[in-house]
Amino acid sequence: MVSEWFEKKLSWDVIKLSEMRQNKLTGEWIIYAVNRKKRPYDFSKKMEPKKSSPHDCPFCKGNEDKTTDALYEDRGNGEWSVRVFPNMFPAVDENGKVEEASSFYKTAGARGRHEVLVDTPNHTQTIDTFTEGHLEKIFTALQKRFSSFYEEEYIHYIQIFKNGGPEAGMSLSHSHWQIVGLPIVPNRILTQEDAEKEYAQKNHGCLFCDMIKYEEEQQKRVVTENERFIAFTPFASRFSYELWIAPKRHISTFIELEEEDIKALSHMFHKIIKGVSKIREGICYNICFIDAQKGREGDYYHWHIEIMPRVGGFAGLEFSTETYINSILPEEAADFYREHCEE
Ligand SMILES: [Zn+2]
Ligand SMILES: [Zn+2]
Repeated sequence: MVSEWFEKKLSWDVIKLSEMRQNKLTGEWIIYAVNRKKRPYDFSKKMEPKKSSPHDCPFCKGNEDKTTDALYEDRGNGEWSVRVFPNMFPAVDENGKVEEASSFYKTAGARGRHEVLVDTPNHTQTIDTFTEGHLEKIFTALQKRFSSFYEEEYIHYIQIFKNGGPEAGMSLSHSHWQIVGLPIVPNRILTQEDAEKEYAQKNHGCLFCDMIKYEEEQQKRVVTENERFIAFTPFASRFSYELWIAPKRHISTFIELEEEDIKALSHMFHKIIKGVSKIREGICYNICFIDAQKGREGDYYHWHIEIMPRVGGFAGLEFSTETYINSILPEEAADFYREHCEE
């Protein structure tokens, strides 16, 4: 079911199905989503916001007919406060074809799901001003949608992320999250899972759980802790002020978070995001939920959130070698967060 507005959009340009191609040299999968060229964009090339107003913003209260129909709404107070709907310009598509092998290269239909979660009806509200209670609603909604993605057989990896600001890839300026269900498992996840598996077989324990224990002992990179979660700057942070939030108990997927976990996470996240917003005015960042691939045997992976502020850009060395240059030591970043995350 699509709205009249969306149907009109479809008639302007027949949306082509996305395709995935694998780089034979690295194993990386690339998504070709040509329909996304047509997406509306609230920022100019120089990353300055264009004037977008609640009047024409599809994510604003009152403009619900400018999006696809809602799949989930939190209407605790009558009006919606969190709203989820299918992305109008999806990177992957439920109707994508299944994998088709070519004689030489490997391709796959980009069969998956791509949804948007608008986390406030207010056009200009930013996540650092949300209450803990509102964050709880957002995480609960994300978890509900995540579970629904999990049921789809053709989806093998689910990525939840938020692009905060134009330098972090945000196209519409109204605060939102995205959930993408992919038909493949990304290389980075496979590498991490293999490392965790190897460690578990040698040491009979979870690598990430041991990392948390070590960080707690050292107290050099720990930003804050509560009974259920820990926030720390990772020892080998790729980005300046990179910060991870992880459950202290071994959890491999977002689904396993209980109501009390979501409460504790919201409490911690509320503090952390205030610290992130103080790095500099208008700081852009990505927030990514890193999950285990679906259905892998064994329980090696440790679910966590990665927050990556965009202080510097990527350049030739990073692109060519995946060797990142970081000008802020994680210990220094942890000091900054400890000072700036509100108690
Ligand atoms: Zn808006
Ligand atoms: Zn663990």
